[in-house]
Amino acid sequence: MTTGETTQDWQRRWSAVMMNNYGTPPVALVGGAGAIVTDADGKTYLDLLGGIAVNALGHGDPTMAAAIASQFETLGHTSNLYISPPGVELAERLLDKFGHPGRVMFCNSGTEANEAAFKLARLTGRSQIVAAEKAFHGRTMGALAMTGQPAKREPFEPMPAGVHFVTYGDVAELDAAVTDQTAAVILEPIMGESGVIVPPADYLAAARKITADRGALLIFDEVQTGIARTGTFFAHQSAGVVPDVMTLAKGLGGGLPIGAVIAAGEAADLFQPGMHGTTFGGNPVCTAAALSVLNRIDDLDLCNHVAAVGKSIVAGIEELANPAIDHVRGSGLLIGIVLTSDIAKETELAAREVGFLINAPAPDVLRLAPPLILTEEQGATFVAALPKLLHAAAQGANS
Ligand code: PMP
Repeated sequence: MTTGETTQDWQRRWSAVMMNNYGTPPVALVGGAGAIVTDADGKTYLDLLGGIAVNALGHGDPTMAAAIASQFETLGHTSNLYISPPGVELAERLLDKFGHPGRVMFCNSGTEANEAAFKLARLTGRSQIVAAEKAFHGRTMGALAMTGQPAKREPFEPMPAGVHFVTYGDVAELDAAVTDQTAAVILEPIMGESGVIVPPADYLAAARKITADRGALLIFDEVQTGIARTGTFFAHQSAGVVPDVMTLAKGLGGGLPIGAVIAAGEAADLFQPGMHGTTFGGNPVCTAAALSVLNRIDDLDLCNHVAAVGKSIVAGIEELANPAIDHVRGSGLLIGIVLTSDIAKETELAAREVGFLINAPAPDVLRLAPPLILTEEQGATFVAALPKLLHAAAQGANS
């Protein structure tokens, strides 16, 4: 596995040839098994980020590896000029999970799924989009235009026009913003990138009513929350709210690049031949991988597992009653630990030192989004270490 190069060697090579959009990452990962990853220096970590919610089954799941190899050997690639049977099967399975009549389109990432949803919304004949401040929907121009983080948009302006932002969770603001010109409202059921922000209990249902009343589409970006991440197969299922359009990626491919747009009702028929497409979208290998992810989620009863392990982690953190922790939020294995001061970055570094990969989506928030197969015991090792990490972080921040 290792080539004899250290993390420092890789960092030197990286910074000589890679564009600077990620800076120089602190760790070079060379191996993984289950929820454990190994770096170039031979150090192991408990991977509590799972490639940021990508890794459904852990690293090296043998069933998934076999499904990928078998499909590649059978037929590695078609194009969208031809039918790919695993893609059809995956679409059927996703609609079954969705539980409503609809249609599916595949692409290669979450960004691309949202870009397609934006285009689909414009086909309604209306042009305006309502999105949430602080939301993250991706980095291509359309997805970025709907991303409620001005600093990410500003270097690339002008954005595609017609996007209006509202405060996430505020029903009155949403009610005022949606008009008969609104093509769609796009929302994350839980906002992942801005710090695992959970909306008030009635918010998604209110969004459903407001959009239905005005003839606008409701789009849920389930790129981070979907595929059992929050303890139900899709996050909107626990809220009992059915969107017109849903975007997926990340966990769907369990590590392989695939995104999907699912649309119900009239929205399902808006794209006509020639309007949209992509070479790799729905390719046999990635759709076979995603099918094996869905099979494993069912076989291992991962929705219930995720709900139980998530609860045990949250309860464990709450029991710490640590003064550096304000509260814990999220659902299933998408967990935000809200701190009483801005020491999340220092805590992320202290955690990495002792072998836990987590991240800090906001100055005062730690995020956990581990592989869905994480065990309660593994979660408990992090909870047990957390007070020391927070202490080290506070010292670091003060020094
Ligand atoms: N939407 C949400 C909610 C996300 O969390 C992300 C990725 N963090 C994206 C879209 C973009 O997905 P991708 O990186 O696969 O393009």
